[in-house]
Amino acid sequence: MRLAILGATGAVGREVLSCLSAMSISCEDIVLLASEKSAGTTIMTPLGMRPVQAVSKESFRDIDFAIFSAGNDAAKTWAPIANEMGCIVIDNSSAFRYDDAVPLVIPEINAECALGGVSLIANPNCTTAIAAIAVYPLYRAFGIRRMIVSTYQSASGAGAEGMQELKEETRNALDALPAKHRVFAHPIAFNIIPHIDTFQENGYTREEMKVAWEIRKIFGDDALQISCTAVRIPVMRVHCESIVIETERPVTPSEARRILSAAAGVELLDDPLKGVYPMPLTATGKFPVQVGRIRQSLAFGEYGLEFFVAGDQLLKGAALNALQILSFLLHHS
Ligand code: NAP
Repeated sequence: MRLAILGATGAVGREVLSCLSAMSISCEDIVLLASEKSAGTTIMTPLGMRPVQAVSKESFRDIDFAIFSAGNDAAKTWAPIANEMGCIVIDNSSAFRYDDAVPLVIPEINAECALGGVSLIANPNCTTAIAAIAVYPLYRAFGIRRMIVSTYQSASGAGAEGMQELKEETRNALDALPAKHRVFAHPIAFNIIPHIDTFQENGYTREEMKVAWEIRKIFGDDALQISCTAVRIPVMRVHCESIVIETERPVTPSEARRILSAAAGVELLDDPLKGVYPMPLTATGKFPVQVGRIRQSLAFGEYGLEFFVAGDQLLKGAALNALQILSFLLHHS
């Protein structure tokens, strides 16, 4: 299997490389692609040091699969070219997620959508993937009418530059130097910012709408009512989410714990009296999405639950999910 990684120098691209060995995905060749800016640099891969090349039409010749994590514009330019050359693309950007012809896949939920000769597969938004993994087993067991999500999203969700800005801004703040933010809408150090992506006409941001659009598409349920508030916090890695669900059938926290403890991709971390619950520090570098603080909702009574999740968004929200799709395709081809 010959694999290309477009965006190999970025936050997600580097995680793709480090997950390959951990997931025992073996490649005959790995081609590292980025913009002109990074051409000529080298990066360690499971096959040794490899040069980064500026992406071109020739980059996809004889390549079986490509994982794209280079943003919407690069995806729109290069996915059709890669497909034309017989390369199957798994794209991390939002360029194709809302296209009816493109499957939006979380393998634990709808892996089969990636089969049947599909040449372009979209990976969901990081916040969507983390919420969906925790909510889907409950959706199957109890039905869900409404879902309210409040997020606490880390700086690395904005890529390598977001991570750099958090470090620099924290140093500036500690040294009483003026803030010089560029990636985030306001200084991120010692602050929280209720603004991720652009504001829409309805007052929600695009990041918030992505959660609603994408969960409905992945669950195949247009009737599911979803509302989200997305907030950036000064943490390096891992997105946390407070989730409230209104169920169709009565639910109890103990039944929910039983179901979630057996669910694929979920780790139950729910012993609050002992200080055990999901946090960025517990979820960093972990493949499963952690779920805890499960309680009966005071708002929806026996038809509602509230819980807290933490997931490494560079993993399940991006690189890991993309490689799980790749692995599924390799086992079903
Ligand atoms: P990043 O750290 O900024 O990395 C971007 C990568 O894309 C770099 O390798 C960059 O190469 C490359 N690139 C940018 N423009 C390019 C172009 N025109 N042609 C070729 N390569 C280009 O960003 P990231 O966080 O890894 O995110 C990448 C994509 O994944 C985005 O679409 C993002 O929305 C999505 N995503 C990110 C996360 C996350 O948590 N960060 C989660 C889910 C999905 P150079 O180094 O040469 O500039």
